[in-house]
Amino acid sequence: MKAHTEFEELLPFYAAGGCNAQQKREMEAHLNDCPECQTELVMWKAVSSEITASSQAITAPPEIPARVIKRIHTPNPLTAAVRQSWQLIRAQFYIVQSELWPISALVMLIGVLVAVIARKDMVIYLLSPMMAASTLAMLYGPDHDPANELARSTATSPWKILLARMSIMSTYNLLLGLVASLGLLLFVKPEMLGTIILGWVGPLAFLSSLALLLSVWWGTGIAIAATYGLWLAQYISFKTISIWMPSPIWSSFLSAYKDFWHEPLLLVGLSILFAFIALWSANQPVLRLSSNQ
Ligand SMILES: [Zn+2]
Repeated sequence: MKAHTEFEELLPFYAAGGCNAQQKREMEAHLNDCPECQTELVMWKAVSSEITASSQAITAPPEIPARVIKRIHTPNPLTAAVRQSWQLIRAQFYIVQSELWPISALVMLIGVLVAVIARKDMVIYLLSPMMAASTLAMLYGPDHDPANELARSTATSPWKILLARMSIMSTYNLLLGLVASLGLLLFVKPEMLGTIILGWVGPLAFLSSLALLLSVWWGTGIAIAATYGLWLAQYISFKTISIWMPSPIWSSFLSAYKDFWHEPLLLVGLSILFAFIALWSANQPVLRLSSNQ
């Protein structure tokens, strides 16, 4: 049997109709022979009906519901922008040629193996910017976009789509480069890691943006050939050149060209500029027409 205090605690719920069938039965049995609870029940019933009556008396001002509904249906601009960007990026993740992901990872893995076997961290320095440039060169244009027609029929402007793809691909390329550099730790001293990463990060950014820009202008093939050519030209040796063209201007140009690839800030700055031009160009109807031919 429950004690009087337990029933007393249950009284407010009973008065408000919040008890289950068994509690109700027990309560009614207890109430029959407990005058104290009977008096309290009268009080609680009064309170309960008072609350019900007063909450019914409160009516919402007529202009609020419409305003509230409008608020609910128009999320704040920042949330909307973030959500829209996220959806765009997620959509591009599937649209970007799916074989690009495993192939570039595989090439980088082979690069790490070669570097470790040959004990030359140079391999990653050479390979990661080239890898990045070729993936970026494949982001734009109808040839690389199975959903191109669909994308063109939607309201999203081409530059936004390209920006989303560029962001995903560049992040992926950076991660690949970092993982590959970590792989070099098999034979390289940990304190060298920073220098190694700083070595390829600038060229990677520069060649990526340049490849994207050239692919928007002239197509993937030219973009890859031009960026590879520029990158590998730094290995033209002084001797070879001086046999062909025995001029001091050439050798000073070549050494300046080599130094250029070791200026991370300049390279990243130029890459931002190229990316802007590429995005702007992607939005020009004339250029889009020419890339469809
Ligand atoms: Zn009682």
